[in-house]
Amino acid sequence: MILRGFALRIEDSGEDDLNLIFFSSEQGKIRILVKGARKPLSKLRGLAQFFVLSKLAVIKGKRNNHLIGGEEIKSFRNIFKSYKKIKESSFLLSVLDNFFPFLKKDHKIFVLTFKALEKINSLKEEKSEIIASAFLIKFLAFFGFKPELKRCLVCHKTLKDNFLFFDFKEGGTICLACRRKNVHRQEISKEILDILQKLLYNDFNSLAMYHFKEENLKIAREIIEKFLIWRK
Ligand SMILES: [Zn+2]
Repeated sequence: MILRGFALRIEDSGEDDLNLIFFSSEQGKIRILVKGARKPLSKLRGLAQFFVLSKLAVIKGKRNNHLIGGEEIKSFRNIFKSYKKIKESSFLLSVLDNFFPFLKKDHKIFVLTFKALEKINSLKEEKSEIIASAFLIKFLAFFGFKPELKRCLVCHKTLKDNFLFFDFKEGGTICLACRRKNVHRQEISKEILDILQKLLYNDFNSLAMYHFKEENLKIAREIIEKFLIWRK
């Protein structure tokens, strides 16, 4: 079979093989054995690389999927030029590696990931955090856990207070009047809510034009990450 996609994880296996966790548009996340990849002169080693969109030829063996050939389609080589870009791109791949199931085909999440990598590659490094945060909240939404950010989850009224709460268990915002005593919520300001809404609803191109306050973006990111862990 021919698979198009990118590496999520590359690890040593046995004497001189590699285990490649690959995220493909055709089969979703799949484990591929790259035989002899750690031997000198291995022709297959170059196909197991991070931040490259590649086309792989894979055959199904009795116990493993084996890589037999392939080629690079597009390299996101600018990512390697910046520590920040590497950090945020690696984070994005680790989310798929840790939270996305094997062999679940998902075109929307594949395209989302491809676009996020493309943006981190091409934009200034200062934008990497916005793109990775937007990727994360959009990933959650596509995965079936879209947070409620427009209304109160209890009374369903639109949110008007300056302070409100994000409930990790219920998955969204709760107004001041409806707040209950539970440990699963965090108070958030209107500014943080605004960032969360933009990250969820705006596309990467328009998000790249915003200048969020660094500390606010950091808080918004922490909320999304906590929400992700709650969904696991
Ligand atoms: Zn309410």
